[in-house]
Amino acid sequence: QCANVCPVSSITETYEYPDVRKAIADPDKIVIFSTSPSVRIALGEEFAMPDGSFVQGKMVALLRKLGGDYVLDTNFAADLTVVEEASELIERITKQQAPLPQFTSCCPSWVKYAETYHPDLLPHLSSSKSPIGMQGPTIKTYFAKQMNLDPSKIVNVAVTPCTAKKFEIRREEMNAASGYLGLNNVRDMDYVITTRELAKWAKEEDIDFISLEDSDYDRLMGEASGAGVIFGNTGGVMEAALRTAYEYITKEAVPEDFLNLQPVRGLEAVKEATVTIADLQLKVAVIYGTKAATEFINQWKETNQSYHFIEVMTCPGGCIGGGGQPKGTLFKGDGLRQNRIDGLYNRDTQLNLRNSHDNPELQKLYKEFYGRPLSKLAEEMLHTSYHDRSSDLGK
Ligand code: SF4
Repeated sequence: QCANVCPVSSITETYEYPDVRKAIADPDKIVIFSTSPSVRIALGEEFAMPDGSFVQGKMVALLRKLGGDYVLDTNFAADLTVVEEASELIERITKQQAPLPQFTSCCPSWVKYAETYHPDLLPHLSSSKSPIGMQGPTIKTYFAKQMNLDPSKIVNVAVTPCTAKKFEIRREEMNAASGYLGLNNVRDMDYVITTRELAKWAKEEDIDFISLEDSDYDRLMGEASGAGVIFGNTGGVMEAALRTAYEYITKEAVPEDFLNLQPVRGLEAVKEATVTIADLQLKVAVIYGTKAATEFINQWKETNQSYHFIEVMTCPGGCIGGGGQPKGTLFKGDGLRQNRIDGLYNRDTQLNLRNSHDNPELQKLYKEFYGRPLSKLAEEMLHTSYHDRSSDLGK
């Protein structure tokens, strides 16, 4: 079924871990893994652990055992995406230089779908790159400088639930670090391996995953908020961005109901809500699946209803149901998806740090490198543009 609907034809998986293994064996390379939010909630299923087990510590230990020089958290970059995307939303509302509603753009399948079938929507897509799209150039510039690493030796590996990210990292424009560093042949992110690939690699190496002692991320780009954690499921990007938008607009602490934004949670394919921030009534929608997105967009165009912010993810339930995740959802469906979602929300509530903009490592990054959200450097490195691909349809 997915093969018929996936806009990036990501169902046929290409394994990249053999190339990563070669990079690890090369003493001249520095291999840096970055792990997406939803991997840690599903990897355990490949090793017969209960559905929805939160295995972050073992996952980090596994990547170290496989030979990674550094293990960083893409949730950190999810916080970065939230801050840039919330700032962009506020600019759209207050300065009106770009149209509303703002659509999220962190799902590469959704972006390519919009480029192909709805190019008229492209000015509505957030220019903020996805977390992986921000993590790559930030590692090769800021992190490399802080850690005294030669950026040309860095091999960036994203560990993701998503086969479509293999397409995204190879988009021509995903080479911001190259321009900044003045180096040719430097890609922001070099490889993508999926949750299933990581498990396959571990099994080939005979690593006993269950007995691994928990390990923690390397610092500097390894700390993340609960908002970064929930990025991995449907409604999570919306909730994370609204937490930050609330504090940026009101200058007041994020209230409890924004830390538990029930109207945008749940497994319905389309959720709508009106959210009040100061004197603003924000009309938002959260959608997953291209079928639901098509119906929503057609209806929206017909009725001309007004929205401020719309999240679209392609996979059922968001990235927790991504094409590179363990295949249990084929048999267990929404029950398993809900277990994975619960695992992420539970983690969010366990953390003291719930808001992206409060992340101290992120604040340090802005202070020492990007300056502020939407600064000139942030626009160059963390934002992108999209292409009309409607000619691919041959019409
Ligand atoms: Fe990838 Fe699916 Fe997440 Fe989109 S929803 S980013 S295709 S895993």
